[in-house]
Amino acid sequence: AAKLIDGVAIAKQIRDEVKAEVSEITASGKRPPQLTVVLVGSDPASVIYIKNKIKACEYTGITSDTIRLPNSITEKELLTELDLLNNDPNVDGLLVQLPVPDHICERTICDSVAPEKDVDGFNIMNVGSFCVDAESFIPATPAAVMQMIKRTGIETFGKNAVVCGRSKNVGLPIAIFLHGDGDRGNLAGDATTTICHRYTPPEQLQVFTKTADIIVAAAGVPNLITADIVKEGVVVIDVGINRVDHPDNNGKSMLVGDVDFEGVSQKASYISPVPGGVGPCTVAMLMKNTLLAYKKEIHFAAH
Ligand code: NAD
Repeated sequence: AAKLIDGVAIAKQIRDEVKAEVSEITASGKRPPQLTVVLVGSDPASVIYIKNKIKACEYTGITSDTIRLPNSITEKELLTELDLLNNDPNVDGLLVQLPVPDHICERTICDSVAPEKDVDGFNIMNVGSFCVDAESFIPATPAAVMQMIKRTGIETFGKNAVVCGRSKNVGLPIAIFLHGDGDRGNLAGDATTTICHRYTPPEQLQVFTKTADIIVAAAGVPNLITADIVKEGVVVIDVGINRVDHPDNNGKSMLVGDVDFEGVSQKASYISPVPGGVGPCTVAMLMKNTLLAYKKEIHFAAH
């Protein structure tokens, strides 16, 4: 049976590293790092994600503030708010919880968070810098996946990796990490990496997954990865978060990933669960990014 990649334990390790550094900062008389989260509207999943972020801030000693704005806010008003926060010297990390309402352009908003405060790494400056191996904020979920792989001691060099999902904030940056040149830093994985997406026919998907040493599932499709399409000894990281009805759960819905955990555990060497896998590590990596923003350790090329 597979060994569990314990996201809760790895997340605690990362949070403890941040906490130790924050304690040193405050012990030297300086103010702690500050994370400001902007929430437009009241999407229930967003509210839960923000609650987890605030909890992690409290744990690590990072101060936090949530700015709640009505769903009816215009894009222009939101941009004015971001401008204020970009110019506030007491705000180190700034993020707008996605999704934003349909009348607001997500790309415009992501690009309006100052690159040096952009702890989500969604500003095009950070996306572009990451793609060319320059210093950048790296989105927390891809960073979490890489930390889980590295801290578990999983070899990626020369291996076959398959990423299911190509979204700009999740699947694509995970693939960039896995395929990248390790000599150029950034924890790049040197794996031969295939990206599958919604138009990859199922019979083609299994051609790739059956030869994969590492599978990262980030599609948002329950049971996408099943035991019959993976090889013995595969490493599986499950990024998916899906709310499904479950008859065994007193009729209540429950969270599952994209992987048939029961079945795939029989064949995999390592597997990450949902919940308790990538989710907590993502929040921990956001704390790391906030500390980086505070320390002003990411330097952007002159532009
Ligand atoms: P998204 O909807 O933007 O993208 C989904 C991607 O999956 C798309 O690129 C699509 O082409 C691909 N896809 C769809 N069906 C597929 C199939 N049958 N085979 C292969 N690929 C397929 O979602 P996202 O924001 O990229 O998030 C992906 C999943 O990860 C979701 O379940 C989301 O809830 C979860 N997520 C988890 C965390 C975390 O911290 N654990 C963070 C972000 C997102």
